[in-house]
Amino acid sequence: MGQLLLGCIADDFTGGTDLASTLVRGGMRTLQVIGVPQGPLPDDIDAVVIALKSRTVSPEEAVSQSLEALQWLRDANCQQYFFKYCSTFDSTARGNIGPVADALADALGVSFAVACPAFPENKRTIYNGQLFVAEQLLSESGMRNHPLTPMTDANLVRVLAQQTRKSVGLVAHPAVKKGAKAIAAAFNELTAQGYGYAIVDAIDDADLHAIGEAVADHKLVTGGSGVALGLPENFCRAGLLTASAAASALPAIKGLAAVVSGSCSVATNSQVAHWQKTHPSFSLDPLLLANGQDQVAEALAWAKALIHKGPVLIYGSAQPETVKLAQQKLGVEAAGQLVEDALSAVAVGLYEMGVRKLVVAGGETSGAVVKALAVDALRIGAMIDPGVPWTLGLRDDPVALALKSGNFGTVDFFEKALANAP
Ligand code: ADP
Repeated sequence: MGQLLLGCIADDFTGGTDLASTLVRGGMRTLQVIGVPQGPLPDDIDAVVIALKSRTVSPEEAVSQSLEALQWLRDANCQQYFFKYCSTFDSTARGNIGPVADALADALGVSFAVACPAFPENKRTIYNGQLFVAEQLLSESGMRNHPLTPMTDANLVRVLAQQTRKSVGLVAHPAVKKGAKAIAAAFNELTAQGYGYAIVDAIDDADLHAIGEAVADHKLVTGGSGVALGLPENFCRAGLLTASAAASALPAIKGLAAVVSGSCSVATNSQVAHWQKTHPSFSLDPLLLANGQDQVAEALAWAKALIHKGPVLIYGSAQPETVKLAQQKLGVEAAGQLVEDALSAVAVGLYEMGVRKLVVAGGETSGAVVKALAVDALRIGAMIDPGVPWTLGLRDDPVALALKSGNFGTVDFFEKALANAP
């Protein structure tokens, strides 16, 4: 393998894609791997994002997964390491941001790192250490009711301090606004005072670029995908990277096209409805699946008859009342699992039919489909909509995948994605 510049560890799958997409936009050729890589990776890449599922597992498990990923990245001799978490600082009462950051810092022999989840493009900003989601404090946003990681305190200095044994300082906006030199000076001051982390204010992309420049010589950077905006420029300045628009180029893929959707979010439901105005679709119903009806075979037979004329959609997506009904009858998890399993089997059947351009809607659904297709790495391509790039799913015969989570994408996302497929 060639020289890897940036080695990243992401605490969830779609967050990993978001980071990878940012790096590609900055001109770095980026590969996302699902879990710690087992085999060799392609030569022609500048950054690797190892996507874990460590956000809501126990801190011990998150640390152990993250250290295993770090070891792999260190064996690849990366110049810099990045720990990516959510822009809303999603964490449980025990972690896992603090414990994982501590463990990575210790392993790398690092005594100080930034912690900056800001992502102004998606309206996540930090001011005086307080995280805002649009106009609301994090603790007053919808995140306060998140089922797994409720965020009830917007003060990130306090939140992180509760998760780490090190002390947490703040680089406030006046210093950030002055630029990279002033930020670096603030870091030095905090380091001299014995601080282990700095929450860094950022309210726009200019702030993030300045912070990015100020961490050029930090072995470990932690944050959201926003703070990675400035990192490709550092490698260019150091003469290690020739950033190029070609970083997002994927090889042309020949094959049929389809969409599978298991997301029931508002955005996805309107994308499904939009598609149905002009394209064929087939609906999967968890109640029929639970009754033993072979809807997978039916959907595939239906697709086979149509797909040579143009792309088809197979979906479980439904309106909230329908979803609730299925959940009441089958249980939330069982209903979800039935649809995920069916859509995974459909994706495999479509692949066998010759589909090589596949749009998948739903975060969990994407994870399940990628696994079923035995894809263990994604080469990241051009962005379709913010946070959603085309990717090339690597396997013996590669498949182009657009993996869209929940509320992402415009109403014509499915059509737009396929019109821009590699
Ligand atoms: P999102 O990114 O919108 O959250 P996910 O794929 O992560 O989408 O989650 C949606 C979940 O809902 C999946 O587990 C999926 O299998 C499940 N699901 C899809 N359709 C239905 C349905 N009609 N009834 C119940 N659950 C469903």
